[in-house]
Amino acid sequence: MTTLEHLQLILSATKPLVYPRGRRLPLYLWQLQGTPPLSDRDLADALRELDARGISMLAVWRSGAEQQSALEQALRLGRIQHELGLPVGVNCIEPLYAFFNGEAATTHIDAAGKSFFDDSFGARPMGCPFAIEQRYDAIREQVEYYARAYRSAGLPLAFAYSDWEVDGPLEWNDAWAHSKRCTRCRAQVPEIDDFASFQATLRRIRAEMQRVCYAEPLLSRWPQALVGNYAVYPHNGWRYWYDYFERFNPELPHQFDQGEPSRPWADEFGRSGYTFAMPVMYTWYRTFDWYTYSPDYRWFYNMLKVASNAGASAPRSLPIISFVHHSLTDPPASGAGHVIGMSAWAYEELLWHSLLRGHSTFFSWCPDAECGHEAPLLHRVWAEALRYREFLESGQPVSFTVPREEGAVVSGLRLGSRLLARRSDFGGAAGSDAWLELEGHKVPTPSGSACQIIAL
Ligand SMILES: [Zn+2]
Repeated sequence: MTTLEHLQLILSATKPLVYPRGRRLPLYLWQLQGTPPLSDRDLADALRELDARGISMLAVWRSGAEQQSALEQALRLGRIQHELGLPVGVNCIEPLYAFFNGEAATTHIDAAGKSFFDDSFGARPMGCPFAIEQRYDAIREQVEYYARAYRSAGLPLAFAYSDWEVDGPLEWNDAWAHSKRCTRCRAQVPEIDDFASFQATLRRIRAEMQRVCYAEPLLSRWPQALVGNYAVYPHNGWRYWYDYFERFNPELPHQFDQGEPSRPWADEFGRSGYTFAMPVMYTWYRTFDWYTYSPDYRWFYNMLKVASNAGASAPRSLPIISFVHHSLTDPPASGAGHVIGMSAWAYEELLWHSLLRGHSTFFSWCPDAECGHEAPLLHRVWAEALRYREFLESGQPVSFTVPREEGAVVSGLRLGSRLLARRSDFGGAAGSDAWLELEGHKVPTPSGSACQIIAL
């Protein structure tokens, strides 16, 4: 399906907002990226229709042969958005690739002077973390190209995100073993045999790459813009999920929560310069077998851990724009097998609890074929939550607890003497006692899957 077909699908599958969005951030959908081939007038009409639903359209920045034609398309979308008073937002994925482009200058070097790459991350030949700075200028220029053009066109950039992942130094898979064989890595990281030291060094370099080549070129021109990247967010030092290109390596530090191998994580967000957090709450296929809970609570438990980690770790003033996905994520080609997907109910509850734990809005990722399912499901909850806009905007989250024993899950936002609470009952917890703790007091939260406003 084309961007235009997706646009039409989404407009027909979603309804205009009943409760105004106010200053809340819009909703982002993976299939609404690009400039549909409509006349200026028809495109303006479509953007107005999307805006009535609280949904934003993003321009796509590209590199390589398509750079110039993509710029023309992006500028056209941005100009119309600006004329309509809508925020100008962009996808800056392609311009950030690839630091590790396979050039000989980017390799590790062993004691015999032989060059080598780390191929444990799939297609991209991962090189030496200490041979990457010479790539900064080329990558930064791919971003500057667009930033200069937006600036001279008078377009105020409001939002830029990237999905820059499998590139640059990463500490997982076989990266540590490769670095230990490299004379340059050993010289640069004297404590290389200590994983924590190795990890902190790599994440520091990674943050610098993103700051210098991506965040700074944009934020120096538009200091108020929201700039961020997939999976980069404030956290408590742990990560509870694995990306599709990462595999569990028992040789590396980890800590089990049932069968979930949590990993220690170093700071990357703090030095990146990013102005919003972008956690990832996906139904990763492998999650299902980690726990012994009921099928729904396996998904919910893991995704709420991720959501709560970001919510509790980010300052309240920092927007959290979370990537979310309901349908099974990255199942094997042979099919789902014994794995039972997450129910729509449990996913909707996860979205609610994330909002009540400080998340600002969502970014739906899904394959094109799932868009007709994912977009309306997500939009319905997000739009309904605007009923409580004053709590979402100004309330303080009061709980980040994720029960290890399946049962009632409660979240709340406190605004003055009122509490917006939501309770979800798993594992037959309906009717049982549950409460939110507030300054040493237990505020009872009755059963029922709806938000309640409780006078304190
Ligand atoms: Zn190296």
